[in-house]
Amino acid sequence: MGVDVKDEDRKAIAANLALVSQQIALLEQQYHRIAGSVRLLAVSKTKPVEALEAAYHVGQRAFGENYVQEAVDKYHALSHLTDIEWHFIGPIQSNKSRLIAQTMAWVHSVDREKIARRLSEQRPDNLPPLNVCIQVNISGEESKAGVSLSELDDMVALVNHLPNIQLRGLMAIPAPQVDHDAQCRVYEPLQQAFIELSKSDRMIDTLSIGMSADLPAAIASGSTMVRVGTAIFGARDYSAKA
Ligand SMILES: *Cc1c(COP(=O)(O)O)cnc(C)c1O
Repeated sequence: MGVDVKDEDRKAIAANLALVSQQIALLEQQYHRIAGSVRLLAVSKTKPVEALEAAYHVGQRAFGENYVQEAVDKYHALSHLTDIEWHFIGPIQSNKSRLIAQTMAWVHSVDREKIARRLSEQRPDNLPPLNVCIQVNISGEESKAGVSLSELDDMVALVNHLPNIQLRGLMAIPAPQVDHDAQCRVYEPLQQAFIELSKSDRMIDTLSIGMSADLPAAIASGSTMVRVGTAIFGARDYSAKA
């Protein structure tokens, strides 16, 4: 934050957003998806609020953040932009769940019972239910976060039973694969689980998969929300964060 965002940076963000949106529209056509069925979540982690404002001013409303304190700081800094939709997509420590419950509209990274319970208990009464996706681990040992597909039914039952969170779908962060076909193969069981889940509940409408590096495979595999950072805001400089 506090980093200088120049006029040329704003223009680059606007141009990148237009390009990514166009790419999504083309991929929808290519993979026989309904036009407009894939939403774009702009992942703005590590980027200054001015970068988010630049995206907002060309129509972007949904923003994804990974780090709790950074997400909350941006939420307050941009509170005048009342129609921003804040999505939390990062790992959740239980002592940070309250801040998330108080500020975010969505959480994509619900990966254990304790977090689901806390988010529901801590959701303020004056806010609508928190929209959540269950994070699924589809890469086995290579990734630690997420429930396995065999644990998914139990997690769905738990989330459905909690009053102040609303299950909207599934999210995954697969390990990097060598090519498009391998990416699709990894997504295949998740897509099947999502189709089954959405048959049972009309509120289930979100399959949160796809990042800058695997948009085609994710859209081919039924993504309804892609989470794109680098292709919109440029590479992240983690050294500047500390
Ligand atoms: C950082 C991040 C993204 C965006 O990744 P890019 O490669 O920059 O598009 C998407 N999802 C999650 C969970 C992330 O942490």
